[in-house]
Amino acid sequence: MTDSTHVMVVTPHPDDAEFGVAGTVVHWVREGKSIIYVVCSSGEKGTSDSTIKPEELAQTREQEQLAAAKLLGVREVVFLRYPDQGLEDTPEFRKDIVRQIRKYHPQLVVTADPYRRYIWHRDHRMAAQVTLDAIFPYARDHLAYPDLLEEGLSPHKVKEALFWATEDPNYRSDITETFDIKLAALRCHKSQVGYDLAPDLEKWLRLRAKEMAKGENFELAEAFHRVEITW
Ligand SMILES: [Zn+2]
Repeated sequence: MTDSTHVMVVTPHPDDAEFGVAGTVVHWVREGKSIIYVVCSSGEKGTSDSTIKPEELAQTREQEQLAAAKLLGVREVVFLRYPDQGLEDTPEFRKDIVRQIRKYHPQLVVTADPYRRYIWHRDHRMAAQVTLDAIFPYARDHLAYPDLLEEGLSPHKVKEALFWATEDPNYRSDITETFDIKLAALRCHKSQVGYDLAPDLEKWLRLRAKEMAKGENFELAEAFHRVEITW
């Protein structure tokens, strides 16, 4: 029933993980680590095209996410299919994330920072808060979900968490060598970053990665708030 993975990336929508952590994912894959993506919502509201149906867009975005994950070397993508712009901090959602943690046994979980202030997509805040709570204490405590125990999903202690889009970075990963793959993975999300925007996307992404590397001895970075979980 369980499977040992090194890293679980919980992404609110398709494409958020590529913006947040794709360059670092490539390094982990090269080190032989196995990576699982958990996609909370398939992003069926993420368009300005009034002719596309939400269910069509969801399918397109799932295919785009699969293509990006394949390019990066992600082992598996799990789609939870919660409604876009409808993620909430509910017991059901939390249990679903606990289920994934107990199934895949990640040492490290990566998601958005739940505590970014002011303008921040509600789904990002909610997915991140639920993931943080799922890591600790719910995935750890056997009495939290007796029915998951009956499914064969025993408690699991995550050792470390990384949060992207943080206002309080304390860990920067060197993505100078993997930036081009991150960019290519982002471009798999054609419905979100159409080819007409491609030159701007590269410029914008490079500038952002440079800013994140400030004070380091490398050029391009992804920045995170890192937490070690020792209890
Ligand atoms: Zn998003």
